[in-house]
Amino acid sequence: MRLVRFSLDPATPATTPDVSPLVRYGVAENETVYETAPGWTARTGASWPLGQVRLLPPCWPSKIVCVGRNYEEHAKELGNLAPAEPVIFLKPPSALAAHGDPIVLPPLSQRVDYEGEIGVVIGRRARNVPAERAHEYILGYTCVNDVTARDLQKKDVQWTRAKGFDTFCPVGPWIAPATEVNLDQLRLRTWVNGDLKQQASPADMIFPVARIIAFVSEVMTLEPGDLIATGTPAGVGPLSPGALVKIEIEGVGVLENRVTPA
Ligand code: ZN
Repeated sequence: MRLVRFSLDPATPATTPDVSPLVRYGVAENETVYETAPGWTARTGASWPLGQVRLLPPCWPSKIVCVGRNYEEHAKELGNLAPAEPVIFLKPPSALAAHGDPIVLPPLSQRVDYEGEIGVVIGRRARNVPAERAHEYILGYTCVNDVTARDLQKKDVQWTRAKGFDTFCPVGPWIAPATEVNLDQLRLRTWVNGDLKQQASPADMIFPVARIIAFVSEVMTLEPGDLIATGTPAGVGPLSPGALVKIEIEGVGVLENRVTPA
């Protein structure tokens, strides 16, 4: 079972909020989407073939919290030391893109990189959660591409601009519930035009997911639907117009997006 947000209108923007009547919730099983009430509670009885619905980002986050430099080899490849505590930053929900949506290259940047990441979706309001109890607050896992304007990231003191362009946060295609998958086995791979560029597993993270949830929830209250992008492994690189980026988390799914010029 996979948790989806979807619309029956193929033109629904990825950034359509939950309050819109266009947004529906459902569970996908065997190529069929069964509609549920918001929050994936009771089924409504309606269903559609998976291929006939417009998949939206699978959660509607009040905030997207990202972890920088959470894999030692990635910190090194950009000339940085492994941090002593998690480095966190935010991406705006306006950056969301769904599975299959374009990644639009902004004219302000000459170098836009992919960053394949494991996304953690929060299921319950979390504030000052100790690491030992972090698992109780995880709804599930999804694929995230933390698209980054690398030149602007180097130029700016902080990363809001480099990380915040529209379409710079593809997420999806759905959420694998934490009750159905084992975090330790979520192997991450990124391909660009069919070439394998990144691969890692959660064991390679400097700060494990439980520690990240504890750290972040000591700063800000996490709400249901909030998304944590847990950092990218080594192998980041630039995207050219027309490139197809595929981010796979084994046992979760594959997120595909094509790069287009502005
Ligand atoms: Zn990242």
